Amino acid sequence: MKNDDWPRNYRKDTLLTHLGRHPEAHHGAVNPPVYHASTILSANMAEWEAKRAPGRRFDVVRYGLLGTPTTFALEEAVAAIEGGYRAMLMSSGLAAVTAPLQACLKNGDHLLMVDSVYGPARNFCDKVLTRCGIETTYYDPLIGEGIARLIRPNTRVVYVESPGSLTFEVQDVPAIAAAAHAAGAKVLMDNTWASPWLFPSFERGVDVSIHAATKYIVGHSDVMLGAVITTKEMYEPVRTMTADIGHCAGPDDVYLALRGLRTLSVRLERHQKNALTVARWLQTRPEVARVLYPALPEDPGYALWQRDFFGASGLFGMVLKPASRKAVYAMIDALDLFGIGASWGGFESLIQPTSPARIRSATHWEPEGPTLRLHIGLEDPQDLIEDLDRGFHALRTTLG
Ligand SMILES: *Cc1c(COP(=O)(O)O)cnc(C)c1O
Repeated sequence: MKNDDWPRNYRKDTLLTHLGRHPEAHHGAVNPPVYHASTILSANMAEWEAKRAPGRRFDVVRYGLLGTPTTFALEEAVAAIEGGYRAMLMSSGLAAVTAPLQACLKNGDHLLMVDSVYGPARNFCDKVLTRCGIETTYYDPLIGEGIARLIRPNTRVVYVESPGSLTFEVQDVPAIAAAAHAAGAKVLMDNTWASPWLFPSFERGVDVSIHAATKYIVGHSDVMLGAVITTKEMYEPVRTMTADIGHCAGPDDVYLALRGLRTLSVRLERHQKNALTVARWLQTRPEVARVLYPALPEDPGYALWQRDFFGASGLFGMVLKPASRKAVYAMIDALDLFGIGASWGGFESLIQPTSPARIRSATHWEPEGPTLRLHIGLEDPQDLIEDLDRGFHALRTTLG
């Protein structure tokens, strides 16, 4: 076992390489073994009792649902690299969105939800939370400290997601968190775009950080997984709720996420480099009205992004000049390297049409033309550019 001080003093890349690994406990194996376990046996009744001592529910291996050395390893690593207290895992990113909301809200409470939130999160608020007697008010992602005016005596949660899903507005998270905390509300953040690597949510005032680990943490488009990381104060209530609901994650999925995590830093660096190259080229194209990517100096969110983030991931949006649906579909169909698919964060490039304007309720988002979302993978960006060039040719030559 490493000494107690380890590894707090090391820099982030070192933590990413070493955290959650305990070779000395596993015959020297570099990676933790995959524990396939539901039943965990106790040697005798004294051990049975010890594992069930008050306050130890989430610290010991006592039942598969509550964790094994495999899940503890990933929890330890993701919590530390984001600067949180502890983490918990569940079977999807969407579960990581909904479980903390369930933990923090009860009948009669009020939730402030960002208007640019991930669509299924909005669906959960409108359908499930409404049925539980919890009211949701959607707010402008650019509201900043103005959020204070929307906070009511029963507002328990201010939920942020930055940049916004599909439209990529950067939120002033520190200003929103200051206003929320002054009113006694907690700040929950969907931090999937940046991953635990590029946005230090706890330093920015967030209480509960939510990740679709399905995306960059896993990084290979082959696993569904969610992770929630919290402050010390929020750990017990959120962890208890996730256990009470019955959330857990499959051991092989957790193992694949641990494997993906080790290369998170190098992958994101390349995703950003490639995405910037492609995004800058798109900005020069006559078919493109705007590129929605806060890492571009022309983006309205650039200043906040530069202030608060350590870098950008490879996901961004694009607004085309007016074009028919037929022409846009012809463009997408002409692409060879971009897969047509939802989700993102894997090593490969993806594209999909989006319709963000339709789902907004607090703000009016009026694009100049059709909108698309691109995930820029680890291919050579020059090949991606040539592929998109082929797509634009199809867009221009498709009539009607
Ligand atoms: C994909 C995604 C989720 C949900 O993750 P799943 O693992 O697909 O359930 C949540 N939030 C954001 C921002 C996402 O992009």
